[in-house]
Amino acid sequence: MQEFDTPADKSSAPVSVTVARGDGIGPEIMDATLKIIAAGGANLVPEEIKIGEKVYEKGITSGIEPGAWDSLRKTRVLLKAPITTPQGKGYKSLNVTIRKAFGMFANIRPCPSYAPFVATKHPDTDIVIVRENEEDLYGGIEHRQTEDVTQCLKLITRPGTEKIVRYAFEYARRANRSKVSCFTKDNIMKQTDGLFHRVFDEVAAEYPDIEAEHLIIDIGTARLANTPERFDVLVLPNLYGDILSDVAAELVGSVGMAGSANIGDNIAMFEAIHGSAPDIAGKNLANPSGLLLGAIQMLTHVGQFEAAERVHNAWLKTVEDGIHTADIYNPSVSKEKVGTDRFSDAVIERLGESPAHLKHVTYRSFGKPIKIDLPTRSLAKKELVGIDVFFDWRGSTEELAEAMEKNSGNGLSLVMITNRGQKVYPDGIPETFCVDHWRCRFQNENTTDPVSQNQTIALLAKLSDAGFPFIKTECLYTFDGQPGFSLGQGQ
Ligand code: NAD
Repeated sequence: MQEFDTPADKSSAPVSVTVARGDGIGPEIMDATLKIIAAGGANLVPEEIKIGEKVYEKGITSGIEPGAWDSLRKTRVLLKAPITTPQGKGYKSLNVTIRKAFGMFANIRPCPSYAPFVATKHPDTDIVIVRENEEDLYGGIEHRQTEDVTQCLKLITRPGTEKIVRYAFEYARRANRSKVSCFTKDNIMKQTDGLFHRVFDEVAAEYPDIEAEHLIIDIGTARLANTPERFDVLVLPNLYGDILSDVAAELVGSVGMAGSANIGDNIAMFEAIHGSAPDIAGKNLANPSGLLLGAIQMLTHVGQFEAAERVHNAWLKTVEDGIHTADIYNPSVSKEKVGTDRFSDAVIERLGESPAHLKHVTYRSFGKPIKIDLPTRSLAKKELVGIDVFFDWRGSTEELAEAMEKNSGNGLSLVMITNRGQKVYPDGIPETFCVDHWRCRFQNENTTDPVSQNQTIALLAKLSDAGFPFIKTECLYTFDGQPGFSLGQGQ
């Protein structure tokens, strides 16, 4: 383990950080990173924990030893090298486990261009992706409900969205950025993505100094791929953010060059975005830049701005001087093809220097880590106005509708039947393809009138007795009179 001895960042007391050296190229790039930041003045006390392949092999499916949590709880900062995730056998993604267990809601991935020193078609790009890190389809709440149908629950919450959107605007202010763009698919997912968009608009209004724009994800992605230089900070729900952050990293040259920060209220994790690259492990070929850039984000997080700036500018100068590892080596701009060790030494030799062409980096304006306090809100008036009941059914639409009409009543009438979201009753058309998963919507004849929970329970019992056991239900609520549910397509 690299010791941090000289020259320490005078601006702060030593900070304990948890360090995980990972698998594959992990130990090599971690050693290189620790050596560079120590030489650059990082004043850290590292505590090593074991994670990854060897822990999985002991049968610990989370990939992290139970005792390691104590170190994380104590230091609240983790610098993590990539790990090898065994395929299948019920192993859990360690990244998802750590992020969710510690509430690391924000994933921050800067993707600047290093043109002309690293080849890219988009030399003027300088994007930061702010990805929501805990919600959306990543809850892993999946069910198989019938022979033919599986589902995954997409959860978008108001506090989760508000935290990430506020974080994006606060980050933009700190980093002197002028625009925040948000992508969703709220023309289709009006409740979930609709909430994300609505909260984005609400929060944006509190930051009049920063331009805000919302784009539907499809055209947004097309524009990002074609003209990334028109974007600045992007804030995205989890799945879109996962995909677009790799796209953005690749647009500016290489996923091997990007670091990322996972930020929670009390704890943060810093890493490279690439994997453990077992194909080049132990060969002194790996580019340590992704982990180094993650470590620089860590230094700013713990307030060691001088060291962060010194290391970052020396690294930019090294890239600019054409000292390149094999993954970014290009004979037309590179001067020397180097291994991990030589690259690290080259960065250390340039400590105190600044890039001549690439933009000099400053971090002093960053201040303390961004803390998000959510405003308190009054609760909306919530009323039950119906129920969607799902059935596993292999008969015809007409037979199902007849049985539903016959067994409803008691203040609940059949409003519609859908199959895969498409209305098939009343007034369906014969061409609609149907599977064995049907939704029947029951409401009062006056659909805005409240119904009681007991009415819905009585309906479910009656339908079950008639040979129609439900496979799932969803209550239909209004909130301050506004429907909290979508209409069927074609309704
Ligand atoms: P990878 O990122 O490890 O490698 C993809 C390609 O990029 C390989 O050719 C590799 O040699 C190259 N590469 C990656 N990092 C490099 C670097 N720093 N310098 C030079 N070349 C580099 O992706 P993969 O091969 O799909 O995954 C390998 C393992 O890593 C898998 O077990 C996967 O589950 C794991 N993984 C871990 C993380 C993480 O811990 N955060 C992230 C992604 C993948």
